Amino acid sequence: MGESIKGLVKAAHYMYSSGLVSGSAGNISMRLSRDEIAITPTGVPLSLVTEENVAIVGMDGSRLIGGNPSSEVYLHLGIYKIRKDIKGIVHTHSPYATAFAFSDKKLKGFEGFNGDFIDEVAYYKPGSLELARECVKKIEKGKVLILKDHGIVCCGSDLQEAVQLAEFIEESAKIQFLAYILNKI
Ligand SMILES: [Zn+2]
Repeated sequence: MGESIKGLVKAAHYMYSSGLVSGSAGNISMRLSRDEIAITPTGVPLSLVTEENVAIVGMDGSRLIGGNPSSEVYLHLGIYKIRKDIKGIVHTHSPYATAFAFSDKKLKGFEGFNGDFIDEVAYYKPGSLELARECVKKIEKGKVLILKDHGIVCCGSDLQEAVQLAEFIEESAKIQFLAYILNKI
């Protein structure tokens, strides 16, 4: 388990330093076993996540060891419960992707991925059970959710894949934004 937690801490620091998250926004998790996940703590910037403050929680959301789990813990748990293939989840408010989530412009298809890949989730209060429930409904097949007026959720067969997807979505959103502006000039 120690190695897995180390990987999660590393991923948290990487995401902060690469600008995908800022302040104490964003949270990441990984499946440890059938009954447990590890998730970043609430109110702690991802740059300050340590092996000691990572929260280990049961599938019912009960804290087993570590800090207090992120307020989005039920969103993460809900996805792990219905998608056995998902082993890592990343939630960010990365600027370009989130700008799309706040606008009426849609992120277009991504090269190498089919249309099932991304789904949109209507606005529900961050950290609410309603938001968790809607995300679970929409993640049936895909790996990315655009949360209206909020941010994005990326899922992977491991945490590394989820992080890479978050980077990929952010980069794609940035390119689409720039292309849109260039076309206007
Ligand atoms: Zn959020």
